[in-house]
Amino acid sequence: MGEFTILGKYSVGVGDRFAHQAEAQLLACMLAAEQGVDVTPVWNKSHREHTIIGTKPLDSRMAADAAAKKLDWSKPYFLDADHITLATWEGYVEACDFFTIDVAEQIGRPAGASAVEAFVFRHANLVGELSVPGVEAPLPIDRDTVTLAAGKYLAAVREAGRIYRRVEERKGRARFITEISMDETDVPQTPIELLIILAAIADEGIPIQTIAPKFTGRFNKGCDYVGDVAKFEEEFCNDLAAIAFAIRTYGMSQNLKLSVHSGSDKFSIYGPMRRALRAFDAGVHLKTAGTTWLEELIGLAEGGGDGLRLAQEIYSEAYAHREELCAPYATVIDIDFSKLPEPGDVRAWPSEQFVATLRHDPRCRDFNANFRQLLHVGYKVAAKMGQRYLDLLAVYEVSISKNVTDNLFERHIKPLFLAD
Ligand SMILES: [Zn+2]
Repeated sequence: MGEFTILGKYSVGVGDRFAHQAEAQLLACMLAAEQGVDVTPVWNKSHREHTIIGTKPLDSRMAADAAAKKLDWSKPYFLDADHITLATWEGYVEACDFFTIDVAEQIGRPAGASAVEAFVFRHANLVGELSVPGVEAPLPIDRDTVTLAAGKYLAAVREAGRIYRRVEERKGRARFITEISMDETDVPQTPIELLIILAAIADEGIPIQTIAPKFTGRFNKGCDYVGDVAKFEEEFCNDLAAIAFAIRTYGMSQNLKLSVHSGSDKFSIYGPMRRALRAFDAGVHLKTAGTTWLEELIGLAEGGGDGLRLAQEIYSEAYAHREELCAPYATVIDIDFSKLPEPGDVRAWPSEQFVATLRHDPRCRDFNANFRQLLHVGYKVAAKMGQRYLDLLAVYEVSISKNVTDNLFERHIKPLFLAD
């Protein structure tokens, strides 16, 4: 690793719940490289997921290192301590070189009137207009907007500073990548708020390379974007403009970019995102989180026999515990329980039907987003099966890794980074 740890322009967060698909995921980045585009893989797994599965960050580190070695990958790759807080960062400090500091909880906490006043005074130049290349009307910013946003976000940014400095103390400056995430909250941040948050982050001296705001619309796990695509596109462009402004004005990292969480399967916005990124010559980090585990299920079901039976059993269990499984993900899933198939029916399904219901092909009549989302959060069921699940992953490895690579490359990397 060089002196400064820099995240490349395009990167993809590849979650791997059971740490068995690192090679298949890396292969997707190698396919991109063959087509002339560098996409840096970042293995991300949140504290929530490690806790539910009972894995440790070092397990992910070993899986990533082994894959890189086996496939002779000499380009950068990282391990993301995803959504860490002041209470959890320490368990990740050894294994990880990418830290996603989650301060969504602190949004709206009082920052103190004098701190807000000082911020508004220091950033008097924010008041005015943010001109956005390619957008005719500049975005007006008045003093009240700055005051309100500072009041809402300053405490969160300060908390991020506390966490950042602890990690820095242990790892050394510029030896890791820092992201700040505010996505797991109810209300999206406007581009103007993003700009104000960036100004506060610059004040706090946190050298972030990625920032994850909450965007307009629903970013449900494993499903397509739900919302107004044109509105998203406008917001995304304005966010890119805010970032470009912050780089110029506050001397933030030249490679500072957006991080899109729950970014898998958002097929209807990849085109608009790709066009915006090219227009702004900007990069992006796309976290694809838990889709890899779904590809494991697809691969098992596609393989038939014991693999299919295991996938059916996992569904039955997930169905039986649906309330409990969904609870930790309430803000990022939308499941209509009445549209879930009966486990008894699913047990009678042939491979093709299970695969068609689960695989995210929106044109396919059998695709069921409710079924997919429930299984998305249902990895706990497989975790409980322990070795039995892992043994079958080995038996069905060929069918599984093909699905993992294809999904990542064909349905994500290609439309976002490679298409014309
Ligand atoms: Zn997230």
